[in-house]
Order: sequence, then C-alpha cells, then structure tokens
Amino acid sequence: MSSSHGSIIGGALSPLEQFLRDYVEASGGMWDEVEPQVYDLMLPARDSDAEPKVVRVAFDPEAIPEHPEAQLASYGTPLVDRLLADAVEHARRVILYVVGLNLAPSGLEDRVRRAVSLPPGFTLEVESVRPLFFPQAAFWFEATFVSDQKEQEILSVAIDLHHGRQVRHLDRLLDRGRLAETPSLPLAETRHPGLASAYPIARDRVFRTLAALANTRQRELVDRLARQLERIGRYYSDLRAEVEEQDRRAQSRGEDSARFKGRLEALYREERVRTAELRQKSQLSVHLRLLNLVEIYQPKLLVGTSASNPARGPSSGATELEWVWDPLVENVEATVCPQCHHPTFELSLTRQGGLACPACAASRAPTTRR
Ligand SMILES: [Zn+2]
Repeated sequence: MSSSHGSIIGGALSPLEQFLRDYVEASGGMWDEVEPQVYDLMLPARDSDAEPKVVRVAFDPEAIPEHPEAQLASYGTPLVDRLLADAVEHARRVILYVVGLNLAPSGLEDRVRRAVSLPPGFTLEVESVRPLFFPQAAFWFEATFVSDQKEQEILSVAIDLHHGRQVRHLDRLLDRGRLAETPSLPLAETRHPGLASAYPIARDRVFRTLAALANTRQRELVDRLARQLERIGRYYSDLRAEVEEQDRRAQSRGEDSARFKGRLEALYREERVRTAELRQKSQLSVHLRLLNLVEIYQPKLLVGTSASNPARGPSSGATELEWVWDPLVENVEATVCPQCHHPTFELSLTRQGGLACPACAASRAPTTRR
C-alpha cells in the first residue's frame, strides 16, 4: 500500500511528514498518501495478539472537513507526540555501512602531496596506506520554541569520530543508495575516542544553529510585542478619553462624577494586567532533545607519511604525519598539527627544526605536547 505519487504533487515534504513516513516504515508499518497531506498509516500491533491499527491523518487542517475521521497531525497533538516518544524509546543503536566506494584511487600519493603545503626543501613520502572503517555519528535533535506559539524544528548533525570534526556533506553520507546493513568488506576500525565523545560536539554545533534560529524568533517576538503593546495602549487611551469626556459632561451638568473616576482606575488596572500577560507570553524558551542516532561506518584510507628535508641529512629527523583519504567526497582530510592538535594542511618549520601548523611554528613559546 506504500505509494509515492503524492510526493510529486505535494512538492517538498515537511520534516514532520518525512518523519512520519520514515517512522512508519522503520517500525514495520505502511503508509498510503490518500491525497496530498492526507495519509492512511498502518501502525504495527504493539502486542502479538493485537491487530495492526490503521489511522487516517491530515497534515493540513483544511483537509479535516473532507475527512472527518482523520486526526490532525501536527506537533503537540496526542498522536504525533506518542509516535515521537515511541521513536525515541525504540531508537536502538542503528548501525549502517557505506558500500560501493573506490578504495584504490589512482595517484593517491600525488593527491596527498598536492593537498599539503610543506616548507621549501621538504618532501613527503607515503609509507603506508590502510583501508579502515571510520565511524561517523549522525544525530537528529528536536528543537521546540515556546512563546505565544509553539514551533518545532528537526536539526541534524554528523560527527566524524576519528577526528572529532563535523561532517559537512551529511546529505551524501546519508545517500540511501550507498548504505547497507552489513559491510561489503571486513575492515578494522580506525582509532577513535568512542561514540560518547561525539555527543558534546554534536550538541555544541546544534546549539549554534539553535542560537541563530532563536535570535530570529526573538526579533520577531520583540517586533510583534511592540506592535501589540502599541495597539493595547491606543485602545485603552481611547476608552479613557471617552470616560473623561463623559465625566466632563456630567460635571457640567452638576452631577456626581465619582463613578467615572472608578471606571478610569479600572481601565488603568486592566491595561496593566493585559500588558503584563502579553509580556509574559512573549518570553521565548527553547527545548532541545535527541530524537535519533545512526552510526555510519565508512571505509576510508589512512595514509601514513613521513616529511623530511633530504638536504639536511638523515640526522635532522623526519616528522610522521597521518592523512585520511575520504573516497566518498574524493578528498584528503586535514592532518592534525603535532603540537596543538588542530586540523591543518599547512606545515611550517619550528625553531626546533620540526614541523607544525603555521600558528605553532610562529609562536615564541611553542607548546611542547609530545
Ligand atoms: Zn599547531
């Protein structure tokens, strides 16, 4: 019953629509797009003797009158909240392998040499090339922005565990045509500090994105609040002007005007209450939680090299440098500076005659982490 005709009519899917499709498929159910933004979901039975459940959901509130049996699928509705909670609860450690990569690229030595910048006179010799599995952890976070309204966004970020760096080409890494549940080659794993080390890096990256999203929303909120406060201020000053006018007329007729004073005070109180409520509702809060995690094992080549200056003789010593060839994007990854451990393609001569990144080589007191 799974079909795809709607995705052409409907254009790009919303993250929620994509999530529901993926969730239903991953949990062994099926989905059928009845019309754009209206689905029949067959959810697998929770207990072995229960029947699978079919629910009709609509992502567009305007479709509900035509499908009165449908539940509205939006963040915060019981159905979607239950599915999201279920997805997290049942999120196992999913492991996938990248297959079909070329692990014997032609001219690898030259490609590494071209990527690297060495001081004059230095040459780079490739000493070893090893294909290894490089684990990358892809995290999906759900960010909830709560103010006078509630909005959610799904944010994804992937971290390469070997270098502890963010993977910039997440879409290519997640290309389903290249992912398999079993490896095509039995390879050893590269050195890495483990999955737990990637989580704080992923969170840090997501926080930066989140800060930008929150700032945009905050600016909109401040603008909206200013407009609403102005409208409320105008409304109450118009009302008070009217009461004051009635008061003047009553006084000119020699009547008691005490009730107008009371009404004016009540209007001031009401305005203060409404203004305070509005300010309260315009506070933005952001909640972040981890929705899902997939570990992707990708074969890459670990290239061991030795950089030295032959003119200075064998006693001058060589600097061992490791490089990684990523066959998915056909690129050399930056190496790690022997002194500060930051990524670099450029190596300069230190005062001690060794090699380090330009910042370390230029610094007066080199950090001697050996
Ligand atoms: Zn350095």
